[in-house]
Amino acid sequence: MIIVHDPAAMRQRADDARRSGKTIAFVPTMGALHAGHLALIREACGHGDSVVTSIFVNPTQFGVGEDFERYPRNLDKDAALAAGAGSDVVFAPSAGAMYPQGFATFVSVEGITGLLEGESRPGHFRGVATVVAKLCLIVNPHVLLLGQKDGQQVAVVRRMLTDLNIPVRLVVVPTVREKDGLAMSSRNVYLTPGQRAEAPVLYASLRMAEQRLREGEKDAESVRAAMRSLITSGSQGVIDYVSVARGDTLEELTVITPPLPVMISLAVRFGPTRLIDNISLTL
Ligand code: AMP
Repeated sequence: MIIVHDPAAMRQRADDARRSGKTIAFVPTMGALHAGHLALIREACGHGDSVVTSIFVNPTQFGVGEDFERYPRNLDKDAALAAGAGSDVVFAPSAGAMYPQGFATFVSVEGITGLLEGESRPGHFRGVATVVAKLCLIVNPHVLLLGQKDGQQVAVVRRMLTDLNIPVRLVVVPTVREKDGLAMSSRNVYLTPGQRAEAPVLYASLRMAEQRLREGEKDAESVRAAMRSLITSGSQGVIDYVSVARGDTLEELTVITPPLPVMISLAVRFGPTRLIDNISLTL
């Protein structure tokens, strides 16, 4: 496994790999790797001869007052974990190399970025779309792997790849969870023991909503209300949003009329720590 810091050197490696007939699978991450990331890297091994993992805490996707400074960083440990899961290249650029003096170009996906996470975190998806576009141009992969954990991110990146004619195949990997259902996240380390004990209520509320939808519930607002009630009665978490939305446009549903892709999602704050999770299903 080799670690590449320089974007130009990374692009050169990608060009060389392609020239020698190799396919490239790419897993973008912000590091602090856990079993969720490693599942993406393992899956990537089945999609490319070379597996590139990027580790870059992207400043443009963090808002003012968010956790950019305190986001956990440990490149040596992450590189060893990525290598263990099958990654042969770790791309770890500096912020200065990705956003040099004078940087002025951003990718802005409209519509779906104004909802849910986009509404709670203005500018977040502009940063995500910009960095994923840049990383795709630098790493030049055939296949891009993203986690279902960030369901709206998948929808935004899918839109961007289509709209900008970026010839990359998107593979979405199911969410990896702790035994008690909590979605693995680099941010779980911020939770106090008390908050950690309460956090599984998030997945419990998603499962409860899924079950009600599968049983034929038609009233989306009653499902959202039941989720809110379960979360607030079972934890000190402060709800940013709970959503029962169309899976394609992410618009909130009023009446649930199958056949329909649905994304049930939520964002809840435990103190300063904001957790997100979702379940996607087709009714
Ligand atoms: P991040 O480092 O948080 O930017 O995540 C990098 C990639 O890993 C994204 O595509 C995430 O959706 C994915 N990911 C994060 N947590 C999980 C998880 N628990 N299960 C599956 N994929 C995940």
